[in-house]
Amino acid sequence: MYIIQNSGWIEAIAGPMYCGKSEELIRRVRRAQIAKQKVQVFKPTIDDRFHSNTVASHDGSKVEAIPVDDPREMLNRVDRDTDVVAIDELQFFDQAVVGVCEELADRGHRVIVAGLDRDFRGELFGPVPEILARAEYVHKLHAICVRCGSLGTRTQRLIEGIPAAYTDPVIMVGAQEVYEARCRNCHEVRGRKRD
Ligand code: ADP
Ligand code: ZN
Repeated sequence: MYIIQNSGWIEAIAGPMYCGKSEELIRRVRRAQIAKQKVQVFKPTIDDRFHSNTVASHDGSKVEAIPVDDPREMLNRVDRDTDVVAIDELQFFDQAVVGVCEELADRGHRVIVAGLDRDFRGELFGPVPEILARAEYVHKLHAICVRCGSLGTRTQRLIEGIPAAYTDPVIMVGAQEVYEARCRNCHEVRGRKRD
């Protein structure tokens, strides 16, 4: 991999739930911290999965993170001497986060972002597709389909064991829904046109 020097850049990690995005973001953050680089980690306030002041992965590893509402807050909160800016759950920010990431990279920071590329319906999720196009480095991760063991590229939403409907809201924080990783073939959405 060509190593960029003397400028910032954006590196993106994307995939469905359980593919290891947070794990990978935490791994990159830890390595930078071990190398005594200054790291600042952010997450949208909407993501209350485990604890409001941490980024946590499903296998239990975590790092401290600053929750922010508006992505533009990060422009003020990132210190000049920060080497690495890491942002998890990018899909929950509005489109303004794209410009914020570009601005941070322009200022010379290494910007690591992680997010869902598709929502539970299989549609593209918020600002993530554009970040994937703009990033210098893109890493797509896959989970394992819990039905058939194939490539887990989709996030299955189940409400009381039944596949969610296409018309359900994309963000249902706090609802009694369950998510699992599935492949293209096993992914089910009630009322999806192409089914
Ligand atoms: P993400 O941030 O992409 O949701 P995490 O980093 O939080 O993913 O969690 C990844 C971990 O989830 C894996 O290391 C594994 O322990 C666990 N996991 C649970 N279900 C699956 C699955 N179907 N395929 C792969 N890993 C899974
Ligand atoms: Zn499958």
